Amino acid sequence: MKIYNTLTRRVEEFVPNEEGKVKMYTCGPTVYNFAHIGNLRTYLMEDVLEKSLRYAGYDVMRVMNITDIGHLSSDADSGEDKMLLGAKREHKTVLELAKYYTDAFFADCAALNIKKPDVVQPATGCVEDFIRVISALMEKGYAYFAGGNVYFDTSRLKEYHVFFNFKEEDLEVGVREGVGEDANKRNKNDFVLWFTKSKFEDQALKWDSPWGVGYPGWHIECSCIAMKYLGERVDIHCGGIDNVFPHHTNEIAQSEAYLGHKWCNYWFHVLHLNTQSGKMSKSSGGFLTLNRLKELGFSPMEYRFFCLQSHYRKSLVFSEENLENAAVAYRKLKAKVLALSDEGEADAEAAARYRKNFADALGNDLNTSLAVTAVYDVLKAKDLSGSAKRALIGEFDRVLSLDLLKREEKEETPATSELSAQEIEAYIASRALAKKEKNYAEADRIRDLLAQKGVSLVDTPSGTTYKIER
Ligand code: AMP
Ligand code: ZN
Repeated sequence: MKIYNTLTRRVEEFVPNEEGKVKMYTCGPTVYNFAHIGNLRTYLMEDVLEKSLRYAGYDVMRVMNITDIGHLSSDADSGEDKMLLGAKREHKTVLELAKYYTDAFFADCAALNIKKPDVVQPATGCVEDFIRVISALMEKGYAYFAGGNVYFDTSRLKEYHVFFNFKEEDLEVGVREGVGEDANKRNKNDFVLWFTKSKFEDQALKWDSPWGVGYPGWHIECSCIAMKYLGERVDIHCGGIDNVFPHHTNEIAQSEAYLGHKWCNYWFHVLHLNTQSGKMSKSSGGFLTLNRLKELGFSPMEYRFFCLQSHYRKSLVFSEENLENAAVAYRKLKAKVLALSDEGEADAEAAARYRKNFADALGNDLNTSLAVTAVYDVLKAKDLSGSAKRALIGEFDRVLSLDLLKREEKEETPATSELSAQEIEAYIASRALAKKEKNYAEADRIRDLLAQKGVSLVDTPSGTTYKIER
């Protein structure tokens, strides 16, 4: 299997450290809001990667973190904590917020047939591991204490920018707005491993540590969680392209400083899903969720098909029109598959040829649109019986996971509520007014009332939106 490696900037033959086994790590979501369909594109393509590796015969062990502490709103070290901001916005504790959005994330993944990783580890469960690794970095002279925080000293490395030649616009979500300089840092790129002091309001969750009561930085989470479950060597590490810098760059810096050897061989990054007016990001507020797509009449499988039609290393522009085109094609494809007869013999030789086309498409840097074409080729094949076609398509769908052979028990109806959109908007306006007047009891009453009617409110920096629960 060949795959593009961001580290070497080449398509390379994938060779894991241990024959037949793959250790795969995925940066999980920051659970302060719903995942948007851009985030989901990344998880969806990572799912195809995992399933392609399994299809190629590897035994894959996949680990994912859940960022429920320490993700700063600027992605530099001086931003306000996203979890804390979210908890304040929704009048929840940080842990309640994390649970709510973690469950919502896995519900979206399930709807999109994204397999849950073998290990899912919230960062709050691993604080002892973070402290142990940070202590070792201090002992080795790779970290220093200044102004109440522990920083990683990037000047101690032979090479810090291991991923070079990146275009700024590709990284734009990672490098966020208005970040002031932190006077405690010895070098511009140094980053926080442990906070006891933040210039913003105090963190809700704090732990004792050798450096005082505080909380970990974001980057240390992934290094420690990966090491805890995968050992000292990771084969492939995944994330969206914005993770390249600073997150993955810092993960490599601290992991290799700690271990004293190379940590991860292959880096897999998914390019962004953009709207026609630019990037889609959680912190900007204006984003689409999977539930919103359902309200617009699209099924999760149609969105999955839309994603699979383009290459993960190309930015993908989302528009309702583009999704509609994909949805029409998906429905036609599925109808053809379901109409296949169950008759005829399987021709092993012919089947092997089609199987090879499919495997070659995936093995060619995960060319998912060609893999979908391989399904159409099977449908059109003159040398395959109906039953052979069904069997092959069923096999391919173990990777594509498009439910091509699944008959719907009943047509999915779009989510509805007994309230009209106008009524819901009126409630939202009354609640905004109550909040403005600091009448939080009334604001909460309206939220609860809507919840009872199956409408859940989502407060974003640009206003309140809602989603209708089934
Ligand atoms: P977050 O929950 O913000 O930490 O992001 C979760 C994942 O989604 C990360 O791997 C990000 O790199 C990725 N991501 C963020 N924005 C986008 C986007 N617009 N398109 C695709 N992936 C994205
Ligand atoms: Zn990570």
